[in-house]
Amino acid sequence: MISASVDSRPSGRIGAYCGRFAPSPSGALHFGSLVAALASYLQARSLGGRWLVRMEDLDTPRNRPGAAATILRQLDGFGLGSDGAVLAQSTRLRAYHDVLAALGERHLTFPCGCSRQGPGEGIYPGTCREGLAPGRQARTVRVRVSEATIVLRDAIQGKFRQNLAREVGDFVVRRADDIVAYHLAVVVDDAWQGITDVVRGADLLASTPRQIYLQRLLGLPTPRYAHVPIATNAQGQKLSKQNGASALAEGRPARTLHACLEFLGQRPDPRLQRATPPEVLAWGIAHWDLSKVPRRAAIVARSGQDR
Ligand code: GLU
Repeated sequence: MISASVDSRPSGRIGAYCGRFAPSPSGALHFGSLVAALASYLQARSLGGRWLVRMEDLDTPRNRPGAAATILRQLDGFGLGSDGAVLAQSTRLRAYHDVLAALGERHLTFPCGCSRQGPGEGIYPGTCREGLAPGRQARTVRVRVSEATIVLRDAIQGKFRQNLAREVGDFVVRRADDIVAYHLAVVVDDAWQGITDVVRGADLLASTPRQIYLQRLLGLPTPRYAHVPIATNAQGQKLSKQNGASALAEGRPARTLHACLEFLGQRPDPRLQRATPPEVLAWGIAHWDLSKVPRRAAIVARSGQDR
């Protein structure tokens, strides 16, 4: 198993519950990211599990100075503290490169000279799969996908199938700017940290089969997945740091947490809006019911600001 050669941290079996929240420091937390943080936290805590924060800071062109510190301070203000040291992916480059090298040795990856082709830009047609055309420079490294359909049983979204060959194609694991791709890093770290359960935004549902595929190639365990609905603004657009969703207002954190619980279908007691964050979290842990989380957002987030 490649996992054994990455380092000696035990992995391989799903053990005691361990969840995580894995923000990218591309901006401050907004309502949608807090929803994901809270859902993953409550699911872990209500089952007596651990909860870790991991800073996904590999995408340096997108990182914003100070954003990691801001996110951690915001989480703290909501009473959401990591159970262990916060792992920054930038400290893990060696592990990712070892995995890339091992995949390359097994001919599971290949260098690709094609220009940028990202999600939504079509399925990779396999141009460089059998080798680079003469004179072509390698830009990225792609993993060869198989014909098998990957079936994910998501605890909120239900059964989700994807045929990587037909719907995605060979995907990038090392980018043209030499940055390790998100899918590879997330899989390596979820296993290394012993994550048993991934609770995150439904915008990543369609990425999950790629991650499961990598787990299989690497002999790593597949965590359980639950994808919470995505908060949208009144125009129906996903709130994201990239589209400038306003950061969460600093005041009245209990009110914000209450709004997140409502968004997650939990029917929190309205009096909690005037409670303290630890009181709201205690209520959340005691009453958390994953089966009440809607598949799609029933509530439109007004904006991060007025929460
Ligand atoms: N870092 C990713 C993001 O902020 C989330 C990764 C994950 O939860 O798997 O969108």
